[in-house]
Amino acid sequence: MQKTTLGNFELTMLTDGGYYLDGGAMFGVVPKVLWNKKMPADELNRLRLGLNTLVVRTGDKTIVIETGIGNKLSDKSVKIYGNEMLLMKQFDEAGVYPAEVDIVINTHLHFDHCGWNTFRQSDGTVAPTFPRAKYYMQKGELAHAHEQHERDRVSYLTDNYDPLVRNGQAVILDGDSEIAPGISVQLYPGHTAYHMAVIIESNGKRACYIGDLIPTTAHIHPTWVMGYDLDPIACIDNRHRFYKDAIPERWLVIFTHDPKVPWAYVGKDADGKYAIESL
Ligand SMILES: [Zn+2]
Repeated sequence: MQKTTLGNFELTMLTDGGYYLDGGAMFGVVPKVLWNKKMPADELNRLRLGLNTLVVRTGDKTIVIETGIGNKLSDKSVKIYGNEMLLMKQFDEAGVYPAEVDIVINTHLHFDHCGWNTFRQSDGTVAPTFPRAKYYMQKGELAHAHEQHERDRVSYLTDNYDPLVRNGQAVILDGDSEIAPGISVQLYPGHTAYHMAVIIESNGKRACYIGDLIPTTAHIHPTWVMGYDLDPIACIDNRHRFYKDAIPERWLVIFTHDPKVPWAYVGKDADGKYAIESL
């Protein structure tokens, strides 16, 4: 577990562990001979990715951004993804108690971003993991999740969000919004049409949980977008839009699926290529 400060805020990086995704799906039209140098695939062409959850303590509020995969997948799915379900143990080790969490934010509602929003209890029923929290999600994303379109319905598991909509813990946002002092969300579409990033700001310093717009440090080149992205052109345009502010203003960038570098600064190297500077 890693910690840092941003102005007056304390940031703690937790993980739900690793999981497998197909290497080709992670890099879309980029040839394997190129991406495999940055992120080597195993004999089944899989990549072992991370599931990074950020906890922000502002002094007033405790905020959780993304909640990994959770413990509700079927046995068959756990075999496929090889996910580890570590997040609750990580909360315990970090001394963050689920009952103290005020705010949970999901960049979008794919199963690997909101899995621990709820958890399966020993009797098989599903309950909210954070009993006092409000859970923030985008209206358009929720509508798309409910549509269950054949292109991406495997990514949307209703138990991750519908129990919270039903019991009133969900707060449905309509576009860019301020959530709490120093915490806001902005639409950065492309991966999904209503995908959002979380902007964290304290004392003149900024960090951004950019979600699946730039899932790992191997994806920082603007055109290295994923096969999963519903609108790859929008992803590329929004990466440029993001870098235009994030690089000169030195935003700390949080990479949701990077297994080794969960946060870093983005800059340009001597050849003018996008590069990361570790924290
Ligand atoms: Zn994802």
